[in-house]
Amino acid sequence: MAHLWRGVIREYFDRLDVTKDTPIITLGEGGTPLVDAPALAKLVGADQVYLKVEGMNPTGSFKDRGMTMAVSKAVGHGAKAVICASTGNTSASAAAYAAAAGIQSVVLVPDGKIALGKLSQAVAHKAQILQVEGNFDDCLDLARDLSANYAVHLVNSVNPDRIEGQKTGAFEVVEALGFAPDFHVLPVGNAGNYSAYFKGYLEDFNAGTIKAVPKMWGFQAEGSAPFTVGHPVKNPETIATAIRIGNPASWDLAQSAKECSQGMFGAVSDAEILWMHRFLSQEVGVFVEPSSATGAAGLLKQAKLGLVPKGATIVVTVTGHGLKDPMWALKDEAGQEIVPEKVSTRAEEVAERLGLV
Ligand SMILES: *Cc1c(COP(=O)(O)O)cnc(C)c1O
Repeated sequence: MAHLWRGVIREYFDRLDVTKDTPIITLGEGGTPLVDAPALAKLVGADQVYLKVEGMNPTGSFKDRGMTMAVSKAVGHGAKAVICASTGNTSASAAAYAAAAGIQSVVLVPDGKIALGKLSQAVAHKAQILQVEGNFDDCLDLARDLSANYAVHLVNSVNPDRIEGQKTGAFEVVEALGFAPDFHVLPVGNAGNYSAYFKGYLEDFNAGTIKAVPKMWGFQAEGSAPFTVGHPVKNPETIATAIRIGNPASWDLAQSAKECSQGMFGAVSDAEILWMHRFLSQEVGVFVEPSSATGAAGLLKQAKLGLVPKGATIVVTVTGHGLKDPMWALKDEAGQEIVPEKVSTRAEEVAERLGLV
C-alpha cells in the first residue's frame, strides 16, 4: 500500500510527548535509510555494520528529528521566536523549522567556527545570525540566559523536546532490523543524540519489542573529549566542528546511558576522523561531514584493540551530510588541493589520460 512518510511526530504520535492540540511543524524528517556497509563490516571484522544515514533528513542532519518537536511545542506555547546556540547544524535546522512555522529564529554561532554550508542554510532560511566572540559553550550560556529573561524559546538539546524527537532514530533502527543491534555507535558533542538513542532503545525494551538494549559507544575528537578526560575541556579543538564542544550539555543523561547500556566513551584523532571520512566516501559510497565519521573512526579503533566481537551486528549513526562541509573532500591525503585535470575534446587524448590505451 502506498504510504507517504509523514514526519516523526505523525509517525510516532503515540510514543511522543504531544497531544491532539499540538500544532505539527514538519518538513518530513526521519524515515532515513539504514544502509548495509559490508566494506566497513569487513574493515572492523564484524558480521553486519549498518549506517543510519541522517544526512538524508530535510536540512541534512539528525537535528531535524528534535527540531520538529521543539518548534512544534514552542509554537504550541505561543512562541514568536526561537533561539539556539549552534556549531552549525542546529541553526540550519532551527532556521528551517522556524521558517515553516512562520516565526523568527535567532542563532548564536561561535566566531569563525561554522562550516560554510551550514551558515548558508541559516541565511537562506532568514535566521537572525549573530557571531559571538567566544566558543560554542559561551554561545549556549548566552542563549540560556536570553531565553530565561526574554521572549525567545530555547531549542538547543538542553530542551527535552529535542531529545524526545531524536529518540525516534532508535525506533526506526529496531523496525528496520526487527531486533536491536549489539552495539550502537555515534559521534558525541553535547551527547544529546547519544542520550536520545538510548532513550529510544530503552522504551523499546520496556515495551518488550527488543530483548536487550545495545551497548552505546560514543566517540569524541581527542582535542575535544571531556568524557574521556572526565571533566569539561576549556578550549576544545578539532576540525570536526559539529562536536567541538568542551562542556557537554547532556553530561548526566549520557553518563547514565553509558552505564545502563554497559557502553563506553572514547576519543579519536582528527587524522583518524579524516581517514574514516575518506573511507566512507570511497569504499562505502556515503558522503558525510567529518564530524559524522567520528563514530565509525572510533569503531575501527576498538576493532584494532580486539574489542569488536566477530558475530556482532552494529549500527553507526552518521549524523550529517558531506555537502555541509565539502572542503575536506577536495584535499588529498597529503592535504593538497584536488583540481580536476584539463583535457581537450579529442577522444584519443582523453583515452590516453584515462589509461585506456
Ligand atoms: C550536533 C551534531 C553532532 C553531535 O551531536 P550531540 O547531540 O551534540 O552529541 C554530531 N554530528 C553532527 C553532524 C551534528 O550536527
